[in-house]
Amino acid sequence: MDIRRRRVLQLLGLSAAALTVKPVYDALAADPAAGRPRVGPGREQLKAKQWAMVIDTRRFASEADVEPLIEACHRIHNVPHFELKRWEIKWIWATEYKHAFSGTSSDRFLADAVEKRPFLVLCNQCENPPCVRACPTKATFKREDGIVMMDFHRCIGCRFCMAACPFGARSFNYTDPRPYLKHTNKLFPTRMKGVVEKCSFCAERLAEGKRPACVEAAGGKIAFGDLYDPASEAHQWVRKNYTLRRKVNLGTEPAVYYIV
Ligand code: SF4
Ligand code: SF4
Ligand code: SF4
Repeated sequence: MDIRRRRVLQLLGLSAAALTVKPVYDALAADPAAGRPRVGPGREQLKAKQWAMVIDTRRFASEADVEPLIEACHRIHNVPHFELKRWEIKWIWATEYKHAFSGTSSDRFLADAVEKRPFLVLCNQCENPPCVRACPTKATFKREDGIVMMDFHRCIGCRFCMAACPFGARSFNYTDPRPYLKHTNKLFPTRMKGVVEKCSFCAERLAEGKRPACVEAAGGKIAFGDLYDPASEAHQWVRKNYTLRRKVNLGTEPAVYYIV
């Protein structure tokens, strides 16, 4: 979508957008190209009923263990680096247990190892995603394989999805992010001012038969696969271990699991 079209949409008025713009975008959302991954030559697209990630947090002891994963993701997805905290864009980041699982479990007497451990957090690709329901343009939508996608061209920057996401998994581009890129991956789109972005479980890599970049960088500390396929590693890790998910009481059904 060019800048003029985005500006027109923004001028339509955001309070009315949910009622007036949605039918227009229902038609646009029917575009068969929307979010459809390209299949790379010679590689078969990976498929699932519900993609899921299982993070074995016991194997991440310090920042040094998580930094390479964050760097791998942000580098290939052209995630800009802003010094200004309120402009920060992040697809995956590390936080403490008490923040990752606030309100879901007792954290009064945590073991030292758990308290000091970095917990990787990202979009949970929720099975029941409130962000999708909140989006008036279908710029964010759920695929058949469970991935909650972003169509950057359809995003009008209303940020309804950010208000709806209880995990803070989405970031907003307050300014043109391109001058703030350390490197540019020409195979992945850059974004523009006024667009929301987030992790998409590396949909572009799955389309080429590859696993997510952070999973590759984790070297066996994260399982990825079809949650409902008994043969998948993710399914097996969930079956064999006691796992936590974030804010399950909200009913969004996160597809990111944590072995603690
Ligand atoms: S974590 Fe947030 S952005 Fe991701 S699917 Fe769930 S509600 Fe949507
Ligand atoms: S900001 Fe969020 S809710 Fe608004 S159009 Fe973009 S994706 Fe949809
Ligand atoms: S799954 Fe892909 S997009 Fe999501 S955090 Fe990992 S590397 Fe980034």
